Amino acid sequence: MQTQIDIRTLSKEELIAQLAALGEKPFRAKQIYEWLWKKSAVDFDEMTNLSKDLREKLKQYFLLLPIRAYKVQKSNDGTIKSAFQLHDKHLIEGVLIPTEDRATACVSSQVGCSLSCSFCATGFLKRERNLSAAEIYDQVVLINQQAIESIGRNLSNIVFMGMGEPLLNYNNVMSAIDKITAEEGLNMSAKRITVSTAGVAKMIKKLADDNARFNLALSLHAADDEKRNTIMPINEQNNIDALIDALQYFQSKCKGEVTFEYILLDGVNDSIYDSKKLVAI
Ligand code: SF4
Repeated sequence: MQTQIDIRTLSKEELIAQLAALGEKPFRAKQIYEWLWKKSAVDFDEMTNLSKDLREKLKQYFLLLPIRAYKVQKSNDGTIKSAFQLHDKHLIEGVLIPTEDRATACVSSQVGCSLSCSFCATGFLKRERNLSAAEIYDQVVLINQQAIESIGRNLSNIVFMGMGEPLLNYNNVMSAIDKITAEEGLNMSAKRITVSTAGVAKMIKKLADDNARFNLALSLHAADDEKRNTIMPINEQNNIDALIDALQYFQSKCKGEVTFEYILLDGVNDSIYDSKKLVAI
């Protein structure tokens, strides 16, 4: 038996070619593509404008691997935290954060994380694998459904601040954002998307060279290298000067905003000395 292909790893052109090899016309591939992305179908049987025969053929040659909500927790402030299960049973986390004027989805980019930041629970989990572009996309779709059900509005913003370092899953994160912002996908504005990084200077420069249209946030959390090394080991290869240089390069080439995140850690980074260092950056 031939190996089945995860159908959402195919570009539209690749899908047309695959379907042509099965004797199907390009317009069929376009219908399927629309079901996969714009209509977020989770099963080939949802594709009701295709014949039963074609749906059976799709099941024979392709896989459709949606994520599903495994556990959902609602807080009094309206925040909804979800554990999403992937097809291989791994769990990731996504959060809906509603406020008066926004509905923000916080999404994951990897299962676990390799960067071991000392203040982060994910940092203690082994990095198992990268998420596919479709698995990232699915989180946005499911959290958007939660937003509609719980507050009657669509998502307004997306932040990549869940599990994982997005810039270490560069291609899939970029591909997911392409689909999220495409007319043939969710048609959201790139200006409403923020990718948060612990700081991978080389990849920040690559974002600039690839003309990223979204915003970037640097998780700074310490304003001198010595301290940052102790709480964020990635700083040893990507020190603050290298990161500032990369961010300036990003700003010189891209329109997206750059922001800094700084969590106050009791007795670690919250002294007068720290604030002076921060101002001096
Ligand atoms: S990079 Fe992000 S997810 Fe990974 S350990 Fe650091 S804070 Fe946690």
